[in-house]
Amino acid sequence: MTKLNSTDYMAKEDKFGAHNYHPLPVVLSKGESIFVWDVEGKKYYDFLAAYSAVNQGHCHPSITKALIDQASKLALTSRAFYNDVLGEWEEYMTKLFGYDKMLPMNSGAEADETALKLIRKWAYKVKGVPANEAKIIVCDGNFHGRTITIISMSSDPDAYNHYGPYTPGFINIPYNDLEQLEKELQNPNVAGFLVEPIQAEAGVYVPEDGYLQKAAALCKKNNVLFVADEVQTGLARTGKMLACDHENVRPDILILGKAISGGMYPVSCVLADDEIMLTIKPGEHGSTYGGNPVAAKVAMAALDVIIDEKLIENSNKMGEIFRKEMRAIDSEMIEIVRGKGLLNAVAIKPKNGKTAWDVCLALKENGLIAKPTHEHIIRFTPPLVISEKQLMEAIEIIKKTFKQFE
Ligand code: PLP
Repeated sequence: MTKLNSTDYMAKEDKFGAHNYHPLPVVLSKGESIFVWDVEGKKYYDFLAAYSAVNQGHCHPSITKALIDQASKLALTSRAFYNDVLGEWEEYMTKLFGYDKMLPMNSGAEADETALKLIRKWAYKVKGVPANEAKIIVCDGNFHGRTITIISMSSDPDAYNHYGPYTPGFINIPYNDLEQLEKELQNPNVAGFLVEPIQAEAGVYVPEDGYLQKAAALCKKNNVLFVADEVQTGLARTGKMLACDHENVRPDILILGKAISGGMYPVSCVLADDEIMLTIKPGEHGSTYGGNPVAAKVAMAALDVIIDEKLIENSNKMGEIFRKEMRAIDSEMIEIVRGKGLLNAVAIKPKNGKTAWDVCLALKENGLIAKPTHEHIIRFTPPLVISEKQLMEAIEIIKKTFKQFE
């Protein structure tokens, strides 16, 4: 049999797969820690980390072991029955994050949908909003996933165009705008404010210091749930366990996904206290795979890695170095560098027709992969296990690449 090369693999995906992504032309076949290798054997620094799902590094041995061990024993029961792992994981999560209850799902979008349902249920069962009148405030520039309801909250035409009719019940306000939030909170039918502590997908927009704390206080004053989507910002990515921890904010509903499994398996969840969580009764919400034994074991192993390997501290320290080094690069193409911990972005000013995409192609040639978001922004989010020596090596690649465009 003839051996396929990168071109063959890409052609196969293009021919037989839907064109809902536009990948960088690199075909990966192996990963270890912060590195990935393509099918020709070339090694790259992974500076996307699967959109921050692989915070613990590729194929982390203890997470891999948890997956294999549990998959060989019992993989899926559905929630029609109890299993001997889910309760242990639920206890682990509620103790770690300080909530009464956890509800497990699979993708980030499903966890967001779960949070939306909880807000609405709480509105009718606890707050006393008239039937079908509940409103949820969301921010322009948000990214919470791809379902019809979630894209109904989106302000990005690529996300919502030609997918109508849309789910009603959302009020969009600008991100980082407390005045507008306070105004909309006067509506007694508002039940929740759903927010990303940093808008990652939009291009790593960090709100002003104090925004989350003031927003949470305004919500509390108006009997509205403050709901944080930490699918991308959570689990040490920004240099704290949760991005909300930077402002000592405890969301009423916390949404987690991605790195909760270290990139090993689709796992997500929502955490809340009883008053909110117990509004959903048996049969009113769920998922066949949600809370399966493999997910439970993998998630505990992945969270152990974050704690045991001190990834919060490392993310913080490496993030400081990264931004300092990026800001020191003398290139007309670098418009701004922003971020927290190891969630960073560089906004690119096109030069001689060369864009962020061209920079990413050149970075790939030089041995580092990253992906543009919204055309002109490159997100740099390596696995949090990166050492200072490795980070400096990666920074040299980035510096060299920008020099090529001068
Ligand atoms: N919420 C946020 C903040 C995200 O960044 C993402 C994905 O990038 C999602 C939700 C959706 O997660 P998933 O792709 O697992 O559905």
